[in-house]
Amino acid sequence: MSREAAPAAVGGDTPADAGPIMKAEGLVKTHRTESTPVKAVRGIDLSVERGEFVAVTGPSGAGKSTLLHLLGGLDRPDTGRIWLEGRQVDSYSEARWAVLRRRSIGIVFQFFNLVTHLTVADNVELPALLAGSSPRQARESRAELLADLGLEGKERNTPGELSGGEQQRVALARALVNHPALLLADEPAGSLDSKGTREVLRLLSRFHQRGQTIVMVTHDARMASAADRVISLFDGRIVDDATLGGGTPRADGVAGMLELKG
Ligand code: ADP
Repeated sequence: MSREAAPAAVGGDTPADAGPIMKAEGLVKTHRTESTPVKAVRGIDLSVERGEFVAVTGPSGAGKSTLLHLLGGLDRPDTGRIWLEGRQVDSYSEARWAVLRRRSIGIVFQFFNLVTHLTVADNVELPALLAGSSPRQARESRAELLADLGLEGKERNTPGELSGGEQQRVALARALVNHPALLLADEPAGSLDSKGTREVLRLLSRFHQRGQTIVMVTHDARMASAADRVISLFDGRIVDDATLGGGTPRADGVAGMLELKG
């Protein structure tokens, strides 16, 4: 009777490097409130290949955030199916999704969601420890990532002692510490100034160039142009799905943008 006992299908465990990293079919999500139910996602099919940097854009209320929450298992669709690395995951329990997120999906949010009473080092090491790394491995991964993100010397600070841009970099380190197959970012620069925004774009672009698969929700066209594929949502549906630059390195877009702002 377990909802998750049955695998997706025979062959649900396809090799991790075959097929899309993430696939969704027929996703529908209605938010039930005390007043009228809101149909936020009205039938979305989406496939994300390994190594892609996909921006999901569209006006406020289009359903971007709801879609990202569905893809990260933070919310459940009314109907529709989701596969991650070939495994059908939409019927996973809360607990199983939590394990999946720990191992395979990193998430960054607009407001960082760091643990405020923990140090920067502990915020980054915690998910590694929870995923089964030894304390030593967790320390080493944390040190490497924080150095990579220009946060050396901030290990013992608490998040409240850092700027917004620095906090978002810590959040990025936390999201990436377990080398997730997929990084989901929900308006990752939405609460940052223009310097912080450029920094986040530069870092996302750098991780993308190293092979990280990213799906980023943004209402900001500048942010979206850092991606190599832009999906536009309107009223809960995909209205456009465009690959940018015809294979031009995505860093060009970012670099150009960075130069614009100096
Ligand atoms: P976007 O991220 O594109 O701004 P959202 O996914 O946040 O869009 O929202 C889509 C629609 O769903 C909006 O009309 C929004 O008001 C509604 N909505 C989002 N989250 C909830 C919720 N938890 N409860 C009720 N309505 C919601």
